Amino acid sequence: MFLIDLLFPKFCLGCGYIGVYLCRSCQNKLKPIESDICLYCKKPSLFGLTHHNCINKLYVDGLVTIYYYNPILKKVIKNIKYRLATEVWQEFYRIIEPQIIKKLGFYKKLSPDFVMQPIPLSKIKYNERGFNQANLISIFFQKFLHFPIINLLVRKREILSQAQVKSKKARYFNTRGVFAIKNKCRDAKFCVSNKNIILIDDVITSGSTVKEAARILKKAGVKKVYVLALAKG
Ligand SMILES: [Zn+2]
Ligand SMILES: [Zn+2]
Repeated sequence: MFLIDLLFPKFCLGCGYIGVYLCRSCQNKLKPIESDICLYCKKPSLFGLTHHNCINKLYVDGLVTIYYYNPILKKVIKNIKYRLATEVWQEFYRIIEPQIIKKLGFYKKLSPDFVMQPIPLSKIKYNERGFNQANLISIFFQKFLHFPIINLLVRKREILSQAQVKSKKARYFNTRGVFAIKNKCRDAKFCVSNKNIILIDDVITSGSTVKEAARILKKAGVKKVYVLALAKG
């Protein structure tokens, strides 16, 4: 046993069981998403591709999510501290099921020239938390996908959850203008030199955050924007 294990014993983030970050019984409670949906009409779609009838030129082209957002994943995603987070993702890497790796392979088949962009946090939120979970999740996905990770988006502010915003108009202004392209990457098309982007996020609920990020990226000249998220709320 290492000294670090004595000082900071590992415990299951789901149930408190000592020795691992995710015990077998909590692992079994993670439910993989079986059928992906179109982000716009919410109806089933193969590999989560946005239907021809639903697509618009500033829209997300496709959405792949891995697990249902259940209480265990919620604990993993929302509560872990940075020191733990890196180790937890390494553990996830060891337990991920072959069918999920196969599912991720869809993006590899789709294009050899993707780059991955983690959804950034606002400066305030980043300083508060000390790290961006989406960055760690990007590194996790990179082990399977091998695409480079880029960082050309900035987040100007956080948004309220869509449930907190009642009217349609307020919802529109809640997400509008949340992201911007970094100054040195103003011409995003040049920045990613004709590559397509996969936005990476921890949890997708309404999808309004990734829709707005896609809008900004496509306005800056990015061709295709897909989304890959660990969980679907
Ligand atoms: Zn457990
Ligand atoms: Zn659709």
